[in-house]
Amino acid sequence: MHIHEYQAKSVLKSFGVPVPNGAPAMDVDEAGEVAAGLEGPVFVVKSQIHAGGRGKGRFKELGEGAKGGVRIASSVDEVRADAAEMLGNTLVTVQTGPSGKKVGRLYVEEGSEIAKEFYLSLLVDRVTSRVSFVVSTEGGMDIEAVAAETPDRIVSFSIDPATGFMPHHGRRVAKALDLDGETAKQAHALAANLYAAFLAKDMEMLEINPLVLTGAGDLKCLDAKVGFDSNALARHQDIAEMRDESEEDEKEIEASRHDLSYIALDGDIGCMVNGAGLAMATMDIIKHYGAEPANFLDVGGGATAEKVAAAFKIITADPNVKGILVNIFGGIMRCDVIAEGVIAAVKEVGLDVPLVVRLEGTNVAEGKRIIDASGLNVISADDLDDAAQKIVKAVGG
Ligand code: GDP
Ligand code: MN
Repeated sequence: MHIHEYQAKSVLKSFGVPVPNGAPAMDVDEAGEVAAGLEGPVFVVKSQIHAGGRGKGRFKELGEGAKGGVRIASSVDEVRADAAEMLGNTLVTVQTGPSGKKVGRLYVEEGSEIAKEFYLSLLVDRVTSRVSFVVSTEGGMDIEAVAAETPDRIVSFSIDPATGFMPHHGRRVAKALDLDGETAKQAHALAANLYAAFLAKDMEMLEINPLVLTGAGDLKCLDAKVGFDSNALARHQDIAEMRDESEEDEKEIEASRHDLSYIALDGDIGCMVNGAGLAMATMDIIKHYGAEPANFLDVGGGATAEKVAAAFKIITADPNVKGILVNIFGGIMRCDVIAEGVIAAVKEVGLDVPLVVRLEGTNVAEGKRIIDASGLNVISADDLDDAAQKIVKAVGG
């Protein structure tokens, strides 16, 4: 799960991480009030969307000459004018895709004088099974570009969970950023606090880009992007409450309401499968036969007919879906229950695309009988291979 920059900064602040003073604003008046309460004289007005690249982004509704999604303002009136231009408009950045994201919230903070910009992130490194630091002197830039063009400017190391964060890790961060004296000490503390926050809140990634050295010689996090392990949210009520559903895929929200594991993908074959392993295998075999899955969907072991119907509706609501493959192995789940759920859903929402059903396991004969007796135009398949070939053929692949 992702949160907004202003939320990430409040979490980090509670761990003693230095961030500029600021507060969120939902409308123009509030933006003005926040600015009036800050020291100034320079303010930064920032669009809050779950995507980076806001500074260089463009608003769809504004002309080419208009400013981007992160703006420097030198008076409260200017803050209000910027807020009025940003709120309710659609910001397009390299990370939002061409359709962009509507700005519903702003963050107004005190402007910082920047002497140097750095990059610092923490992530779960699956190769070493540890939390890794990625540090670079090339701040404020796209880190993928830095990795491709000047990889020697990126320093990365992981933390042994048995020892935790050690003073030498802090020194390594300071050295990678070419800092010494008092600022090096600040870098040690910053790195230790970020690591503590990362562990305590079950983060998946934490990216500070840019981390800056201010004119006064202090380190400050000017931007913060944080992702959390969704499976650990049950023990972080404070984080779970930060969820902004307007930033998430409509279909994924609906799926989570029905306790379905669903991830929207870019292809055109909708998949309804029980069990994560079978779902992965189904996606693989669709790709093997030259097509692309429109989603990952695991209806789980003990799904009811209602849950199957909900899953079917989510799949058919996706305009990219040109065909549907239902692939169920009835172990705990009975094939007749699946068949009833699929038919109930088709009767309710209709079916405009080819549907291939492969059932196997408990009550398979009854399941097939129910589907045959329904009079629906369903292509039945005998095994996974057969099913994949049939659906790929049906969508014209
Ligand atoms: P992003 O474009 O979505 O990554 O948003 P950022 O929060 O990183 O802001 C974009 C850029 O605006 C930063 O890389 C900085 O160069 C600049 N910026 C942000 N805050 C300040 C500030 O307080 N002072 C100055 N001078 N520049 C800032
Ligand atoms: Mn940034």
